[in-house]
Amino acid sequence: MSLAHGRPYLAIPGPSVMPDRVLQAMHRAAPNIYEGALPDMVAGMIPDLRAVARTEGQVAIYIANGHGAWEAALANTVAPGERVLVCATGRFGHGWAEMADALGLEIELLDFGRKTPIDAERVRQALAADQGRRIKAVLAVHVDTSTSLRSDIAEIRRALDEVGHPALLMADCIASLGCDVYEMDLWGADLTVTGSQKGLMVPPGLSFLFFNERAADTRRAMPRVSRYWDWAPRADPAAFYQYFGGTAPTHHLYGLRAALDMIAEEGIEAIWARHATLARAIWAAAEVWGEGGPLSLNVAEPRHRSHAVTALRIGSPHGARLREWTAAQAGVTLGLGIGMSEEGDPDGRGFFRFGHMGHVNAHMILGLLGVVEAGLGALDIPHGRGGVAAAAEVIAGA
Ligand SMILES: *Cc1c(COP(=O)(O)O)cnc(C)c1O
Repeated sequence: MSLAHGRPYLAIPGPSVMPDRVLQAMHRAAPNIYEGALPDMVAGMIPDLRAVARTEGQVAIYIANGHGAWEAALANTVAPGERVLVCATGRFGHGWAEMADALGLEIELLDFGRKTPIDAERVRQALAADQGRRIKAVLAVHVDTSTSLRSDIAEIRRALDEVGHPALLMADCIASLGCDVYEMDLWGADLTVTGSQKGLMVPPGLSFLFFNERAADTRRAMPRVSRYWDWAPRADPAAFYQYFGGTAPTHHLYGLRAALDMIAEEGIEAIWARHATLARAIWAAAEVWGEGGPLSLNVAEPRHRSHAVTALRIGSPHGARLREWTAAQAGVTLGLGIGMSEEGDPDGRGFFRFGHMGHVNAHMILGLLGVVEAGLGALDIPHGRGGVAAAAEVIAGA
């Protein structure tokens, strides 16, 4: 018997759950892209976007996924042959490094593995060793979605300042923005990259590059920037189409407008608090399950765990079987492990992930955990009893 019929729940770390309000805003006839409501609406979205990233800086919007914004960040600030320091805490850090490599940049990689966040002291040492000041930018992933590790961006700024190093600090907040606390200006990031389909609750296809005056100066000093990725006309457009380098992503923009309204109505601090509590509920359940079986949270220290995504290890073949069971029997799709290969499990099938970013509330998380607990039972995977009860206690105490 399948109990999957009903509203499906895609609990993967992006694309995230799309609010009906966002989908309904997108359901309309094609609008005029030259004048009228759409151009007026986009100009009004810029301050709302800046408020989510907590910056007074500028923002460029791309019709691209996060990979596009990764490339845009580099294309505007680092020339081929110049060096970047990449701090990797999982697959996405390595992915950004590969992107930089393909652009002809020189990579210095600090690999922190899959269990620990970026160590600012090692960053400081690497910067101090760069006597010739060849490093043009430090690339840091705030939340690496593969490992669910969250790193401290402000500490990396302190490392740069201590050494007096002029490199730009770039933060990948594709998974974290609108979920985990993030303060671009206060923490001293020069550049922030994000996408539409995670905490911003809009379908994939838009990405955003926030940048401050230092980054803008770097852009101005570049010998050449690829026309499409150039942020200058996008951030300060003389004509509406320059925001997008061509035709506007009409329907995504209506969806984004609705999402930004929802974010403003709830308030970014309240959104951060909601994600923090729901994450604690997930951890509470996972810790109980882990007491009687093979399941464990990938990140041991709570303060290093993201509030947007949680990676868990349960061993192969349990991980793959559990994901199949929850989808087929309960209508819940769990994220698979990526970049988590290990001995005896080259595809990382022993890992799975919960996406809990954006449009998620207590009943969804309790439902998700209830389904996983049922799956552990149905598949005879040993686990400690009472995980859902532990999560309910966190919710009750909130
Ligand atoms: C999702 C994600 C990306 C990649 O974004 P795409 O839209 O899939 O290109 C990059 N970095 C992080 C941290 C992510 O979570």
